[in-house]
Formats: sequence, structure tokens, C-alpha cells
Amino acid sequence: MTSRTHDLGSFTLLNLFIISQSLPKMSIVTAFMAIMACFLGGLFPDIDKPSSDVWDKIPGGSLIGRLIQPFLGAHRHFSHSIVGLIIYGLLFKLLLDYLGKFILVDMTVIWASFMIGVLSHLILDSLTKEGVPWLFPIDIHFKVMNIKTGSWGEKLIVFPGLIIINLFLIYTYYPTYLNLLHNFIN
Ligand SMILES: [Zn+2]
Repeated sequence: MTSRTHDLGSFTLLNLFIISQSLPKMSIVTAFMAIMACFLGGLFPDIDKPSSDVWDKIPGGSLIGRLIQPFLGAHRHFSHSIVGLIIYGLLFKLLLDYLGKFILVDMTVIWASFMIGVLSHLILDSLTKEGVPWLFPIDIHFKVMNIKTGSWGEKLIVFPGLIIINLFLIYTYYPTYLNLLHNFIN
């Protein structure tokens, strides 16, 4: 899937989470950083591709990407699995614990949001014809559809489908979103 679809996918899963969970009270800064963390998580598993958009966002990123790639194996291995998800979660938690000493935001919310992004990435990639090795190192690629990245299937089915889900959620759960916004104003 392209990074545009992954951005929308992470936003969609975050939306599903927002309407289905009772969220803790949080500052607007926490909410903003959580959304950013979700987008970052949504692209993060592709750090195993030096050409990935994750690296484009960091100065010198493609060089770092090329340096660490041998440790992650080929594209869509460790980085796209439950083991990868757990390890990214632990590493990101350590980073946030450290940053929490200097930045006063709710790091638990930001961590959860990042993980929602990572999970959405694996779910979306499971719609592609390469599939996702969820159980890595067991080399079975799970896929529920056969969509090629950047193909009409992604542009005409997946992307519009995600937009429709978001519009439906916002329309149906409008009071939930209003409540959330109220919390920031009060
Ligand atoms: Zn991927």
C-alpha cells in the first residue's frame, strides 16, 4: 500500500478506537501528538525499505534506512509481524519514558496511538498480494485480498472505502467527537 493509504488507514483505526473506548481526559497537546504518533506508526513497519516515506521525513533518512536494512531482513519480514509489533512497542515505550522526563504530555496515550498506527499498517498490507508474515519467523504470508500497491484496486476500492468508513463513523458518532472537543475547550 502507498503511504497515502497507510496515513488514511491509521486515521481510520484511530477513529474506530475513539468511538469504541472511553478515552482518558487529555490536553490538546497530547491529542495532537497522539495523532502524529499514529501517522508515524502507520508508516513505521516500512522502515525495512530504504526508499520508504518514513525515511524521507528524516534528514539523511535514506542513508540510515540503507544502513539498518540488513538487520531487519528483506522487505516485509520481521518488520511486518507480531514479533516486530511487540519489539517496536517496547522500544517506543522506552523512548517515550525517556522523553516523558522533559515533555509533559500523556505518554500512554501517545504510545497507544503509535501502536494503533503500526497495527493498521499490518492490517492494510494484509490486503495486498504479497501478504504479511504475521507469525514471522514462520514464513507464511497471510493475505485476505490480492491488491497490488498503487493499483486501481488500492485507488478505487481501498482508499475510497476508508474514506467512506471515516465519514460514516464521524456522522454516526458525531456526539462522541463533540464531547471530545468539549474536553479540550473546558
Ligand atoms: Zn508495509
